[in-house]
Amino acid sequence: MYADIIVDITHEKLDKVFQYGVPPRLEGALRVGMEVIVPFGKSNKEICGYVVGFSDKPGYDETKIKEVLGVAEDSVAIEAKLVALAAWMKEHYGGTMIQALKTVLPIKKQEKAQEKRRIRLLLSEEEGRRRLEVLLGKNQKARARLLAALLDQPEQDYDLLTKKMNVTRAVVRALEEQKIVSLESEKVFRNPIRHKRQSAGTMEFTAEQEHAIRVFREDYRKGIRNTYLVYGITGSGKTEVYMEMIAEALKEGGQVIVLIPEIALTYQTVMRFYGRFGGRVSILNSRMSPGERFDQMERVKAGEVDVMIGPRSALFTPFTRLRLIVIDEEHESAYKSEQTPRYHARETAIERAKREGASVVLGSATPSLSAFYACKCGRFQLLELKNRAGAGELPKVYVEDMRNELKKGNRSIISDRLKNLIDSRLNRREQIMLFLNRRGYAGFVSCRSCGYVVKCPHCDVSLASHKGGKMVCHYCGHEEPQAEVCPSCGSQYIGGFRAGTQQIEELVKRQFPGTRVLRMDLDTTRVKDGHEKILEAFASEEADILIGTQMIVKGHDFPNVTLVGILAADMSLYSGDYRAAERTFQLLTQAAGRAGRGKGRGEVVIQTYSPEHYSIEMAAAQDYEGFYAAEMEYRGLMGYPPVEQLLAVLLTGPDENMLDTAAKYLREFAMRVDRKGILQIIGPASPYVAKVSDVYRRVLYLKGRDYRLLIEVKDRMEQYIEINRGFRSMRVQFDFNPMNVF
Ligand code: ADP
Ligand code: ZN
Ligand code: ZN
Repeated sequence: MYADIIVDITHEKLDKVFQYGVPPRLEGALRVGMEVIVPFGKSNKEICGYVVGFSDKPGYDETKIKEVLGVAEDSVAIEAKLVALAAWMKEHYGGTMIQALKTVLPIKKQEKAQEKRRIRLLLSEEEGRRRLEVLLGKNQKARARLLAALLDQPEQDYDLLTKKMNVTRAVVRALEEQKIVSLESEKVFRNPIRHKRQSAGTMEFTAEQEHAIRVFREDYRKGIRNTYLVYGITGSGKTEVYMEMIAEALKEGGQVIVLIPEIALTYQTVMRFYGRFGGRVSILNSRMSPGERFDQMERVKAGEVDVMIGPRSALFTPFTRLRLIVIDEEHESAYKSEQTPRYHARETAIERAKREGASVVLGSATPSLSAFYACKCGRFQLLELKNRAGAGELPKVYVEDMRNELKKGNRSIISDRLKNLIDSRLNRREQIMLFLNRRGYAGFVSCRSCGYVVKCPHCDVSLASHKGGKMVCHYCGHEEPQAEVCPSCGSQYIGGFRAGTQQIEELVKRQFPGTRVLRMDLDTTRVKDGHEKILEAFASEEADILIGTQMIVKGHDFPNVTLVGILAADMSLYSGDYRAAERTFQLLTQAAGRAGRGKGRGEVVIQTYSPEHYSIEMAAAQDYEGFYAAEMEYRGLMGYPPVEQLLAVLLTGPDENMLDTAAKYLREFAMRVDRKGILQIIGPASPYVAKVSDVYRRVLYLKGRDYRLLIEVKDRMEQYIEINRGFRSMRVQFDFNPMNVF
């Protein structure tokens, strides 16, 4: 028996796994994640390591393999817990232990903590002015410049000031020697949040809020740890409820992780938590440098942080007294990792919570089918908030059938009703949001006579029409000139099928002259803080209309928005994915929830070509339960999650024939493992996007109710792939219940 051990998990050596023998007295006593003592290096220095796996064969000369000396005395290090969690992730999502470890222990090397230096004037103002005269008299211009700046403001940031004043280190040193200034250096942790604590305020909870808080609190005080789903419409006061629960968990020294999708992690949101819990709150986001993330983790380890707010990866914050994990907008696809291990933060949070004695609180206005299903099955506890808490009634929703607009002769992308409502809002100086689930100038290019769609020759996805008569592939960047006639039938009725945000912006400016318009999409938010700046400009009413992709539906409250227009609502319905209806319902409901959050009642116009589809009908009626029932019927009929489990096996490689052969072998192998024929094995098929940048893709789907069996098949496949050379020229990845079609 041999144990694989890593001895260094904070630095860049994560990939180095060493094999040690397990002496008979330790056999059966070692577990993955345990901290052990091993002899290391030439001197056999005794150091600590973590067990990451076991094997029964020596990896090299048996006589050279050293033995594990023992289990570390009090192996309670948080690292050990995270290593064990990584092992769980490896088992449940596939991939290697190293990939799993890199996910839970993301800090590879210590960057130097940023040194912050301050420069301070040591003289009184009077004395300073006198010395300035002297310097000017001697024509020592650089020194004079610096002194003058310090006379304006006697203490400043060294780096900023010397840069601004364009003075060298020598100049500063000269003034230092003359005891005019001093340099003070302090090692600072980069805390991304500015300090400002607000008073808790006096809010009376609604009965529903009260109930949710009480259920959690009573369980918590009895030591019961559970998973709760706070299902509450937008504006029902979920965030206030989370904060009460967090306060409860913090009471006896507990610690809390709050996951919020990156897109909703706005300054406004963070400040609400910060205002309530002050300096013991910290945030993580993907724009932080590795150094900044490292500092955050150091602050955590130093015990300076009790609440960590961040996107998916914040789940692995090394808290030692974790008592609560909150996942806001739990239905968001961003909680699913797109890299191996393709873990889901919701499931992984529940696992971590179970291991460490914490509760999990999920929240959403449009819960994922799987979370709501778990409530129905009794695995999660449902806490409902059916009414809006603060001001604001639910909006009135209109569904406009765009086929009728065409019949009436309205060829615009804006229906007559939406146009009239926009006019009325502009007259009343109220704000409008126009929402489009799409990026770029126009959608795919298709022929209205024969239905032909222009695709990328390398990637097999439709090309998007861009300004300047180009068609562009959003995967590989391939470009070609806009087709004038249909390459298939020769018809002239070929063109951009649907509008993009940029085109809508132009149209709106033309149709409503003098209107101030802001646009928010991937292009306009690429610059640093672009997202925040646009939202802030809109919040301070610098524009009448905000046009944007799905990123405008999250986070911010705009009290003056009384109209939301959803253009081409069904775009997300035709993505060839079993979750398409769920995603459409969520998008429409969330977008509608943006209207009327202030004083006046909001109105929402949903424009669609399929008004009879249940996801659109139920979104218009704001009937989640109705949607849930209809959608579950479909999922059950088709055997899709959450009713059954779906495992995707994705093969990618440069040789199409090899992929086909490999996929066929994997299929046969899976059928052998599933002796009783319990699983349904689909494919192999060319996925939706069959080729990206000349790398081919094939996908095999395995479906069934027996989750353990699927995991077993996955494990056996991984072993099979490892020992068969034929798989070396390709990558095989596993994905349980994938969020998107491949
Ligand atoms: P959600 O997270 O469900 O969208 P929030 O917690 O953000 O809801 O609450 C929406 C708005 O209502 C916020 O401005 C919040 O301060 C306010 N609010 C929440 N609960 C109450 C309450 N009990 N009384 C008054 N206002 C409330
Ligand atoms: Zn055609
Ligand atoms: Zn391409």
